[in-house]
Amino acid sequence: MPQNTHARKKRRGSSARRAVISLLIVTMILLIVTIALLVENLSLRAQLAEPEDNSSANSQISDTVSDNSSEESSSKAPTVAAADKWKLRVANSENVLPADFSVETGLITPAYARDQGMSFDARAVGDLNAMLAAANKDGVNLLVISCFRTLTKQTNLYNAEVQKWLNRGYSEENAKAKAATIVAVPGTSDHNLGLAVDLNSVEESFENTKQFDWLQEHAAEYGFVMRYPKHKQEITKIIYEPWHYRYVGKEHAAKMNELDMCLEEYVEYLGIEF
Ligand SMILES: [Zn+2]
Repeated sequence: MPQNTHARKKRRGSSARRAVISLLIVTMILLIVTIALLVENLSLRAQLAEPEDNSSANSQISDTVSDNSSEESSSKAPTVAAADKWKLRVANSENVLPADFSVETGLITPAYARDQGMSFDARAVGDLNAMLAAANKDGVNLLVISCFRTLTKQTNLYNAEVQKWLNRGYSEENAKAKAATIVAVPGTSDHNLGLAVDLNSVEESFENTKQFDWLQEHAAEYGFVMRYPKHKQEITKIIYEPWHYRYVGKEHAAKMNELDMCLEEYVEYLGIEF
């Protein structure tokens, strides 16, 4: 028994020593952490208290950084929501509309339309009518002479143009190629989309009218761009048509003019696939 008590006392003694040692270790760790934090805090204060020259250099750096980011955002292509893609749909020789293509159309204000019942894509006809009314208010008479064309009508127009060149002695292949630069092959025209109008006169001299000047200044405000500019003929593969305006929506019209891009270039720039 006495031996047992002695052993217990011994155990009690050593466990007390162990507790003291671990307490010491914890205290030392806490001390080290506190010192480390203090040192860090001090060096931070020292940085903050650096002379003005340095702090202005810092602000210059941050200015440059923000400049860069704003440049990036202005040169970045706008993202196009899937629901908005119809505005930029390309109809050309490489993007032929399917034979069953259809679109819901709305009526162009009859006062500004040459023929009865002229129509345009229902989603954009409001902007078109607003543009026509605004021009009229400014004393500029815009008259729609061509608008939405069914594929059947486009086929008739194209065939008539081919015939014209055949009559002038062109081979069938050459006549078709020539016609395609003047009247779009069926399914390759903005008119088949219901997103284009021809205004007043299909003569190049239209560019010398006040109607043309008004369009140059205001069309984009209503979401319209000149679809076949003179300096983009190699890309559009269509002759210069100062009378042909295409709806792309206000945001894209402004951006296309700013970037000086025709629709083919702009769609490629955005990376849109149809
Ligand atoms: Zn046209």
